[in-house]
Amino acid sequence: MALVHLGANLGSKCSSPPPPQPARAQKFPFEQALINCDEQMDQYEREDMQELALTHVPIDQLYNTASEIQSSLTPLPSFDDALAEALVKWFKPNFMEWVDPMLCTNSLCKEEVDDKGQPTGKKVKMKMRRMDGPRSAEEKQGGAGRVEVHACPNCGTESRFPRYNSLESLMKSRKGRCGEFANLFTVFLRAIGLRARYVWNAEDHVWNEYYSTALNRWVHLDSCENARDQHHLYSKGWGKKMSLVVAFSVDGGAMDVSRTYIPEDKWDEAMRMRQYSDTQLEEVLQRIRARRRGYLSKSELERLEAEDYRDHNWWKASNKSGAEGNQIPEGESGRKSGTTEWTEARGEAGK
Ligand SMILES: [Zn+2]
Repeated sequence: MALVHLGANLGSKCSSPPPPQPARAQKFPFEQALINCDEQMDQYEREDMQELALTHVPIDQLYNTASEIQSSLTPLPSFDDALAEALVKWFKPNFMEWVDPMLCTNSLCKEEVDDKGQPTGKKVKMKMRRMDGPRSAEEKQGGAGRVEVHACPNCGTESRFPRYNSLESLMKSRKGRCGEFANLFTVFLRAIGLRARYVWNAEDHVWNEYYSTALNRWVHLDSCENARDQHHLYSKGWGKKMSLVVAFSVDGGAMDVSRTYIPEDKWDEAMRMRQYSDTQLEEVLQRIRARRRGYLSKSELERLEAEDYRDHNWWKASNKSGAEGNQIPEGESGRKSGTTEWTEARGEAGK
């Protein structure tokens, strides 16, 4: 989630402190985070980035997998849906590595032991020691504004985990957590010819959506969880408390899609979590949309508005657990990415 932290503390170099202000309604806290998400959308349209992505994506293999899905007993509504399914199933097991925890890189260091003191055959897990800025040329070029420094509790060996923003660097490092996964996955979706959204959640998670022309709506995709079309995965599956979800696309701008991810029975809770008004939120979203949609022709604009309208009707019709797009496979509650301690600390273990 490197992007949300950019731009914080700007303007703190004023000469004298401002006079005390009377109490007022809380400022909308996510403005900069949303602007940062919107600004990154252009990079996914770069032809050189999409071409580079296609040097990594095994397109023939994905087409074969999609064909198999379509000729199976449970085909998806269209080949594009099957292609999205094939991509999300391929990405994590075959391309990306989830970072947390890092293992000690010192070959002389001892192995981890289990509860009974028996060696497990694995290297000792490192612990995050401090946050650093970019140091090497590689880290700077990769746009790693923050670098996590992890250290081995046994031998003290340190490893750096640069939180790259650059797609090129991510295609090389192939490491990260949800921020890196969703960032790279957006360009992979674009490269295989699907319309893509980058989806941001105020409670520290990001994922994607692609547009299904067969279903006539945006469809959830989580590349960390190998999940497609499980809109209630977080709220119901992980037990995650969520207040706001915003989807970004290069043509449509920012849309509040909270309703498609937060089911009806959790909506009151979501509203209580929001410390700002609908007007404050909508003002920021409108501004982002105006910037994107301002360049569009009348017919393109009408197409997008029809799409917004259909999405709105879809959540109203399907805002029930178990409805299309909201099913969570049995026995799959709780987050799959990350360690048990980590998911529990985040309230995402499905308990
Ligand atoms: Zn060690």
